[in-house]
Amino acid sequence: MDLLDTLTAKGLRGEVPTREEALAVLATTDDELLDVVAAAGRVRRRWFGRRVKLNYLVNLKSGLCPEDCSYCSQRLGSKAEILKYTWLKPDQAADAARAGVAGGAKRVCLVASGRGPTDRDIDRVTDTMAAIKEADPAVEICVCLGLLSDNQAERLKAAGADAYNHNLNTSEGTYGDITTTHTYADRVDTVRKAHGAGLSACSGLIAGMGESDEDLVDVVFALRELGSDSVPVNFLIPFEGTPLAKEWNLTPQRCLRILAMVRFVNPDTEVRIAGGREVHLRSMQPLGLHIANSIFLGDYLTSEGQAGQADLDMIKDAGFEVEGAGEATLPRHRADVAEAAEAAAAAGGCGTAASACGSGGGCGPCGGHSHAPAGQSSAEGATAEEGADGNDELRSDLVKVRRRGAGTELAPNA
Ligand code: SF4
Repeated sequence: MDLLDTLTAKGLRGEVPTREEALAVLATTDDELLDVVAAAGRVRRRWFGRRVKLNYLVNLKSGLCPEDCSYCSQRLGSKAEILKYTWLKPDQAADAARAGVAGGAKRVCLVASGRGPTDRDIDRVTDTMAAIKEADPAVEICVCLGLLSDNQAERLKAAGADAYNHNLNTSEGTYGDITTTHTYADRVDTVRKAHGAGLSACSGLIAGMGESDEDLVDVVFALRELGSDSVPVNFLIPFEGTPLAKEWNLTPQRCLRILAMVRFVNPDTEVRIAGGREVHLRSMQPLGLHIANSIFLGDYLTSEGQAGQADLDMIKDAGFEVEGAGEATLPRHRADVAEAAEAAAAAGGCGTAASACGSGGGCGPCGGHSHAPAGQSSAEGATAEEGADGNDELRSDLVKVRRRGAGTELAPNA
């Protein structure tokens, strides 16, 4: 297939495909699916071998957010029966993080609901990071606190944060349909602030909100241009009690095509399968590992994932290996760009490398959000029961609200 030969050749060289080629990946048929996975797999192995990076989420503060992101179970007015609690104490967060690291995670993602942190919140997270790094100095810490004000990224960097997550979530053109309390530009600004402070930028998307193929391609190219070092790909978990509860627009095949498109546009970037992996890829999860090089271990912010041991077994059974703490995630040339940006930030200059301008994104892999569709979706005309490809079903039975780990008396899943 000419398209896949072209995409593979470009990906092996680290080149970005054209927008038309990216759209063509999303338009491939089920008969072509294994060829698409194989082509994306060659690109993945070129830059990341057979390694799988494990990340572990700690929800520091859950629910009660004043923002109205339609996909989010923690949003203003959400009726989703999620855990709601205010800031975990540093030792509580460190205990949860320790479980994830013991399970094989090399990165801990500290997330708090809310529009953005106060300076007091930055103090709290500073104490939490100190408690985590005291137990294990090698652990990578990514922080996700929403929109950043001036100097907050610099404070997080000085306190030991390695990365900042803020997802763009969807295209600029449809952003106003999913959230009204902040803008796409706000999100871009925060990713740029984080990148400018020398933090590695983690920024991704949520698929399945009723967006068109063009929207998906728009946001993925935007993430590439912003220089995101890691791109979490969330598949909408339509939580009951949120506006998108009936948006079941994804099939496992569609998810694999989306992951492949993200990989081809970001050949040498960490591509992470994030929230919705179990709900939407289901028994096709191992094929996702041939495309993405990173997943979350265990549970998500407000929903439960499969058992941590099942994640580890899946990786081993599929012939992959967990990335060790001493191994670099990004290829050398990408790491050099990141180090140059960090040095520039430390010297007081712009931390954004010319080829890798920062990027933005909102709260992280909530693993369950939903939002009113833009209206011109590829699912248009399909019933909620049929979904985008005409054969998906309402699978609310697969959505399990998190009842263990952070904010509970029960042990975390790791
Ligand atoms: S995504 Fe973040 S900002 Fe938006 S409603 Fe959820 S917790 Fe709040």
